[in-house]
Amino acid sequence: MTLTPVLTRYWDDPQSWTMDTYRRHDGYRALRKALTMDPDQVIQTVKDAGLRGRGGAGFPTGMKWSFIPQGTGADGVTKPHYMVVNADESEPGTCKDIPLMLSSPHALIEGIVIGSYAIRAAHAFIYVRGEVVPVLRRLQAAVAQAYEAGFLGRDILGSGYDLELIVHAGAGAYICGEETALLDSLEGRRGQPRLRPPFPAVAGLYACPTVVNNVESIASVPPIILNGTAWFRSMGSEKSPGFTLYSLSGHVRRPGQYEAPLGVTLRELLGYAGGVRAGHTVKFWTPGGSSTPLFTDAHLDVPLDYEGVASAGSMLGTKALQIFDDTTCVVRAVLRWTEFYMHESCGKCTPCREGTYWLVQLLQRIESGRGTESDLDKLLDISDTINGKSFCALGDGAASPIISSLKYFRDEYIEHVTAGGCPFDPALSTAWA
Ligand code: NAD
Ligand code: SF4
Repeated sequence: MTLTPVLTRYWDDPQSWTMDTYRRHDGYRALRKALTMDPDQVIQTVKDAGLRGRGGAGFPTGMKWSFIPQGTGADGVTKPHYMVVNADESEPGTCKDIPLMLSSPHALIEGIVIGSYAIRAAHAFIYVRGEVVPVLRRLQAAVAQAYEAGFLGRDILGSGYDLELIVHAGAGAYICGEETALLDSLEGRRGQPRLRPPFPAVAGLYACPTVVNNVESIASVPPIILNGTAWFRSMGSEKSPGFTLYSLSGHVRRPGQYEAPLGVTLRELLGYAGGVRAGHTVKFWTPGGSSTPLFTDAHLDVPLDYEGVASAGSMLGTKALQIFDDTTCVVRAVLRWTEFYMHESCGKCTPCREGTYWLVQLLQRIESGRGTESDLDKLLDISDTINGKSFCALGDGAASPIISSLKYFRDEYIEHVTAGGCPFDPALSTAWA
């Protein structure tokens, strides 16, 4: 479903992923235009458009590109620059980059060439989840086609600009989606977060200036170059301009990708998605994946842009809207997410490594009816020790659903304690009759 048909405009075409289809829809025209511009002009255009990172943090893409130092270093040596695309999508509920790469891999490749040209990089990498083999194969085939057509390699379109693009398969660790762990993994080491600063823009891949961008961010660049900043800014809000992919999942009649201007509300999106199951109501939902604080039915009219969601107490994150109706036990949902974070914790720092383990123990105890009311305070106490005190964002993400669910559904936790078990029937939340 598209309200702003840009990224998704030809996804329903037969064989939408081919070079022919992409070129029929203006594909690689933006690259021709960008190569006639000065690289700094390309960066300025993306900056003026106000494109913000679609991987979760919303950092301005053009500003990130402009951080790449130019000229020689203090030792008189010019270090190479690298462009790395983070295609290791794995935040629970997040499922936009995989369909994007399957349906329009050339949109990503065109964006990579434009971005690499802008930051003056001669090598670019796509770090993709290795388990998602169809995406890996599709990307490899599309990259080969782009080389053959002269959009990659030496002297691209006769411009004198050279770029080599490598598709690299990760091995299935959530932490390798954290940008510095990803760079460690790409260098052949065990993926664990590095201390920041220095940020990758200063010391990234092989300690050289590196831009790490999300798939959707990069795929949004060609239409900006082609249509201009005023066109992009005509959608969304002043601080969150443009269009984006919202991923609806869970108890919704028509789950999937919904492309819309930033600032659309869940109530509007549910209108397009057919609403929740007949006879049921929204109980809680995530605005941006499980790492973002939960919302409830009181938040259906919050504008889903960076400022709107933040002022309502959560984060837009990856725009993964997981919807749970009134049949769902919030304790069980939070337990499932917390088990995920415990499993994926890389173990580098104590608050996250130990804390996620103890959170799971407490939640299991409460869900199975062996908990006490003081366990609720322990959950908050441990979450407070993790939140803001862990080495990377994974720890904060693990604490978010616990803190927010206790804020909105403390009575439901207490009900588990007083009733000696879970008051919900798991069969109801999975039945679609
Ligand atoms: P962050 O805000 O620390 O950084 C965002 C980006 O801006 C990074 O690329 C960083 O290098 C850059 N940056 C920030 N300050 C900078 C500075 N002063 N100089 C140069 N560059 C700077 O966020 P993060 O820790 O990279 O990412 C956290 C987000 O990741 C969360 O909001 C979460 O939603 C998201 N996330 C996404 C997935 C997924 O599957 N897509 C998975 C887990 C988490
Ligand atoms: Fe590793 Fe968790 Fe610490 Fe991040 S917060 S460095 S994932 S242990």
